[in-house]
Amino acid sequence: MTMTCLASPVLARLYAPGEDVPLDTDAPQSLRIERGARTAQPVIISLDSTHRGPALGGCRVKPYASWLDGLEDALRLSAAMTAKAALADLPYGGGKSVIALSSDTAARYAGVRRGDLLADIGEIVSSFDGRYITGPDVGTAPDDMAVIGQHTRHVLCRPTSAGGSGDSSAPTAAGVLACITAVRERVFGGRPARELTFAIQGLGHVGRLIADDLARQGASLLVADTEPARLRPAGRWHARVVAAERLLTSEADILVPAALGGILTPQVVPALRCRAIAGPANNQLSDDSVADSLHAHGIIWAPDPAVSAGGIVGAVAREIDRVPEPEVRKLLAAIGDRLGTILDESARSGRPPSHVARQRIRERLTGPGGGS
Ligand code: NAD
Repeated sequence: MTMTCLASPVLARLYAPGEDVPLDTDAPQSLRIERGARTAQPVIISLDSTHRGPALGGCRVKPYASWLDGLEDALRLSAAMTAKAALADLPYGGGKSVIALSSDTAARYAGVRRGDLLADIGEIVSSFDGRYITGPDVGTAPDDMAVIGQHTRHVLCRPTSAGGSGDSSAPTAAGVLACITAVRERVFGGRPARELTFAIQGLGHVGRLIADDLARQGASLLVADTEPARLRPAGRWHARVVAAERLLTSEADILVPAALGGILTPQVVPALRCRAIAGPANNQLSDDSVADSLHAHGIIWAPDPAVSAGGIVGAVAREIDRVPEPEVRKLLAAIGDRLGTILDESARSGRPPSHVARQRIRERLTGPGGGS
């Protein structure tokens, strides 16, 4: 057991050699790895925290070199969901499910046996009795949630035709756009988007909605995507297409990461030519120290757990709280107001926005109503 654990950096962090007990308070509240009854495929579910309420977090189904890499992703992503829910002031915690496929099983579960895999996931989610609520993530979509939803009530973002709130890209984009407004107000003296240049990395589900809206506001856009087909609307936006490897370091007022995590590294920071960064990509920093380096370089980084919360805020409001649509829009706009208070506190105290955000998360997880 210990030998296997030490093969994984995350487990090496949690367990000391020869020890069976977790040593680190970063350990998730609960971690379960269970094989599905139909497929025998291991389903990894990490509940990072349920102190503020049931753990929210999507279901990731993708190939990994080893299931231990999937386990690492589950631990890391569930902790990020705790931060996201706490910063959005939701009475929920963070969780994640990961199904780590191999190159052999990837084809099987994209095809005829997908229904069996989704049924297995639904049954395992159901066994948490509401302590874990799943939804779409990389490799799963609203249609998959409809199948999972035949086995558990604790699933968000089923298609609207199946009673869910559907794809979360639009509320996520709405939250990002509210945050961009907060950044314009705090960093650019309220200058309108049409006077600013935005560099958008990734024109997928969320990135293209952000680009559409900013183009409508008359903003100048630089865009990049590794999939040439995604660049087709660039002409309509009067956007300049930039090679994917050059986008990050292009000269722009606001960089909008909407593709991958881990893009902001110690090496990239000195080469950046933007004044602020605000985008939906999860886990943008390669490590926490990068936030300090951005601050030292005078670049305002809007913490991604605050910026990317629109998907969960919208799904909880529509499917659990059954809030009327005008109220949902106000809740999505409030994501920008919350970021604004983080940026204000950062400006007042001289601390990086990430430090302010971290302190808020800590207070919400340990303060009144936040459990222990
Ligand atoms: P997506 O997969 O639809 O789009 C990502 C796009 O990025 C794709 O078009 C891809 O080709 C492109 N891309 C990949 N590598 C690139 C590179 N090096 N340079 C430029 N483009 C590249 O994903 P999405 O749903 O639009 O989400 C975007 C980001 O926001 C992801 O990091 C996701 O985790 C995060 N996020 C999404 C949601 C949501 O509701 N969809 C919610 C919260 C956070």
